[in-house]
Amino acid sequence: MTDGDVRPGLRRPIGQDELLDRVIRAVAARRLPQSLLIHGPPGVGLRTTARWIAAALQCESEERPCGACRSCRLAGTFEHPDIHVHFPMPRPKRASSRAKLREAIEKQRMERLAQLRDSPEAVLDRGETTGLYVAAVENIRAQAARRPAMGDRTVFVIEDADAMVPQSSSPEAANAFLKLLEEPPEFAFILLTSGRPDALLPTIRSRTAPLRVAPVRGERIIRHLIEDRGASAEEAERAAAQSDGVVGRALEIWERGPGDATESGARLLSAALSGDARARFEAAGAFSARGARAALQPALEALRAQLRDVLAHATGAAELPPGLPSLRGRPLAPGALLTAMEAVEDALEGVAQNLNPQATVSVLLGDMNRVLAASTREP
Ligand SMILES: [Zn+2]
Repeated sequence: MTDGDVRPGLRRPIGQDELLDRVIRAVAARRLPQSLLIHGPPGVGLRTTARWIAAALQCESEERPCGACRSCRLAGTFEHPDIHVHFPMPRPKRASSRAKLREAIEKQRMERLAQLRDSPEAVLDRGETTGLYVAAVENIRAQAARRPAMGDRTVFVIEDADAMVPQSSSPEAANAFLKLLEEPPEFAFILLTSGRPDALLPTIRSRTAPLRVAPVRGERIIRHLIEDRGASAEEAERAAAQSDGVVGRALEIWERGPGDATESGARLLSAALSGDARARFEAAGAFSARGARAALQPALEALRAQLRDVLAHATGAAELPPGLPSLRGRPLAPGALLTAMEAVEDALEGVAQNLNPQATVSVLLGDMNRVLAASTREP
């Protein structure tokens, strides 16, 4: 298995060698905690890391995960009987009983695993409301109670664990799951992933050992885009520069191409600076009020990059790049720019949570205007 392999099968997370080595040493020494919370920025490779660790735990070879043994091959096609991958899914339409609901959820899971087998990077259920519902958690518990079928371990990968729906309707299921995390059967490992660990139920956070997947260096992302994906050097550099070290984000930016995100970002910045409430209203109106985060996310990412450029200019570190709206001749205070960048981060988080894009932009532009306008008034 080569670093950066993008074919179906077991894949190694990009640029995480140090972390993976540490995990492998812990596995070899039988020191890996049984309940792990694999967290980091969304797109950094959380799922790939969890699936890779699961394969490493099951590998039959010395060199874990070898990618070649029977266990690794089954892990790579999501068919290992002792690796159970769970993820948020839409709630099944109807079920006459709890047992039927559990069956329906398990059937959905199997269908999605078959899709992932063919294209492991497929984004399923785009735009739909999904969750890890009580019935799914009950299935996990039932699977955890069974002895492993092939080897001496069972591994659970529970992706986007922050989507676990608070189970006030079924406190027994919730408690049983917490007990599973706290004291898993001696043969079970539970690997949770979350790009929003703050959104996790605190009771889950406190029962898992954290494992942070950090952003990676730009050069590593550039190399991946050029060598494994076939990007040009120029494309790779542009995508890496806007990615904050998050491989998934770089891939999205590269696949989308230059487009007009930069222009949309500049329009948002211009509206935020304009002091005219109507200009801000119109800028927000350019985005749909429902769903369709496709247009907003790249515009916000471009806006974030532009604010960073303006900040570099404000601190004297760089020239103001062309294409940015007039800053009305007065430099903006670095503190205000940082606050504005935080507001953009909040908006991006809102977009990730499928908040109304129009309302998100409206709030963002109002917030940015308050801090930036105040900043330009200072002598
Ligand atoms: Zn193997």
